[in-house]
Amino acid sequence: MSDDRESERIKPAKQESAPRCPACAAFSHLAAKLLDTQNGKTVRLYQCQCGERIWDD
Ligand SMILES: [Zn+2]
Repeated sequence: MSDDRESERIKPAKQESAPRCPACAAFSHLAAKLLDTQNGKTVRLYQCQCGERIWDD
C-alpha cells in the first residue's frame, strides 16, 4: 500500500498549527486572518466545532 508515501507527503512544518480548544480540547480551524494595522501584525482567529473562538496573536 502507499501509507509510507502518504506520510512523506505531509509536511507539518509548513502547515499552520491550529491551537486546541480550551473548552473541549478538539483542534480548532482557522476562521479568519486579520491584519492589526495598529501593531502591523497578523492576528489569526480560530474557531472550534463547539463554537469556541480562540485568538492567536
Ligand atoms: Zn471546542
